[in-house]
Amino acid sequence: MNYHYNREKEAGGQQLAFKDNYYKLLCEREALKMQFLAQKSPVAAFVKNSLQLWYAAQWDKNDPSRIFYGYGLPQFAIMRQIERKRSLEGAREAEKTGKLSVFTEPFESMVQNIIRIGEELQDYYECETPYEALREFHTPGFANPFSASHIHALAKAVGDRQGQAHVDVPNIPQTTHDIIIGKMLELAEIDLHHNVELMNVEAPACLGYPESGIEKGVKLGLTYNADNPLKSLLNNWHEIGHACYRQFMPAGYMVAGRAMDESIAFMFEYHIGYSDEFLAFLLENGLEECGYDKAMLKAAFTTVDKNTKRIETNPLRHPVDIFVHSRFEEILVNEENVGQPPEAVFANVIEPFKNIFPDDYSFFQDAHTRGGIFGDREAYNAGYAGAFQIGTLMNVTLDNMVDTVKIIAKSRSEYFAPAIHRWTGKPLSIHYYMNWISETFDVPAFTPSTPHRENTFVIS
Ligand SMILES: [Zn+2]
Repeated sequence: MNYHYNREKEAGGQQLAFKDNYYKLLCEREALKMQFLAQKSPVAAFVKNSLQLWYAAQWDKNDPSRIFYGYGLPQFAIMRQIERKRSLEGAREAEKTGKLSVFTEPFESMVQNIIRIGEELQDYYECETPYEALREFHTPGFANPFSASHIHALAKAVGDRQGQAHVDVPNIPQTTHDIIIGKMLELAEIDLHHNVELMNVEAPACLGYPESGIEKGVKLGLTYNADNPLKSLLNNWHEIGHACYRQFMPAGYMVAGRAMDESIAFMFEYHIGYSDEFLAFLLENGLEECGYDKAMLKAAFTTVDKNTKRIETNPLRHPVDIFVHSRFEEILVNEENVGQPPEAVFANVIEPFKNIFPDDYSFFQDAHTRGGIFGDREAYNAGYAGAFQIGTLMNVTLDNMVDTVKIIAKSRSEYFAPAIHRWTGKPLSIHYYMNWISETFDVPAFTPSTPHRENTFVIS
C-alpha cells in the first residue's frame, strides 16, 4: 500500500476518499462536541461514536483520520475519552485549588497516548517528528511563517504596551448585544433555516458541516459575556466567521485544515472587526446609544492587558501565547523533556516571555492543552498570517467578505498553504499580519533581517 503523502499537492476538486459513513461519523463527532460545550453532556453518545470510529478504522488504515481514531485496541479508544475527561476535570480542579496533583496523572497518561498516535501518523506522513505529524493531521499542507525572532519582537512590543493606562468602557446590556449579534448574522448571510443551528454555550464555538440529508449540520454556539460584552461581540463575530465559511462548504468536504478555518475567523474578527466600516456598524446598531464613540472603540480594541490568563487576549499578544503553548506540546510529544515534569517544561518555555504573562500563568489554562488536542494550537498562528494575507491581497471589505468566503469554501481545497497561495497569488507570508500590527498597535515596523525556513519553530 502506498502511504506516500505529498504536502505540496493541491487537491482542489478531489473528494475525500473516506466520505460516506466515515465522514458522517466525523460530522456526528463534531455535533456531539458542540453538545458538550452546550453542557448537554451526551457522554454515552460520545463513547458510542468513539467506538464506531474505531471500528470503521479497522477496515482501511490508509487515511490519517482512520489512523487517528483507530489506533490501538477498542478499549484504548474508550480509555482515551475517559482520560481526556479526567484531564479536563482535573485542570478545572487545579485551577480552583492550585493543587496540580489532581491533574498531573490523567494528563501525563493522555500525553503517552498522543505520542503513540503521533508516531503512527509520522509513518503515514513521512514527517520528521510525531509532533509535526499531528500538526499535519489537523492542518493538511501546514506552514507557519512566524519565526522565533518574530515572536520575540511581538513580545517586546507587548511589554512596551502593557504599562499604558486601562481604558474604561460603558456597559453593553444584553438586549443591545443581542441586537448587534442578530445584525452580524445578517451581514455574514448565516443561513439559520437550512445549514446553521444556533446554540447557547459558555464559550463561543463553531463546529460541524453541511451534509446532505442532515438539517443544520453547522452548529454555531454564541454567548453574552457579562464581564466584557465588548470583547464578547468580537468573540462571537469570530465564530460567525467560522460558520460563514463552513456553511458554504459543499456537502462531503472539510475546511482546508484548522489553519484555514482560523484564517477566515481571524479575518472577520480583526481585518474586518477593527476596520472603520465595522466600527461604524457597531456604533450605528447600538454602541453609540451606550455611550461609545469611534476613538473609544479603537482604544479599547488596542488595549494590551497583562492580567489575562486566557490565551485569547489581543492580536498583539495572542501569537506569543500560541507560540509557548505549541512549543510546550512539541517538547512533550517529541519527548524532548527527558523526565522533566510538564510544569517544569512549561516554566522553561515561558522563561524568555515571563514579564508579559500573569504571575500564575499555567499550561493547563489552555483548553486545547488540557483536553489533549495537541498539534492544533500552532494552526492559530498560521491562521493569523492567512487572515491578513487574504484580507489584504483579496481586498476584503464588509461588502465583499461573504463573496470572498464563498469562493474559498467552494474551491474544495484541502491543503492550507497551497490554498492560500492559490487565492492570494503569493506564498503564505507573515508580512501582512506584521504590517497590520504595526499600524494598528502603533509599534515599529518589523522587518526580519534574514529569510527564514518554513516551519522553523525554535526558541533561541
Ligand atoms: Zn476560531
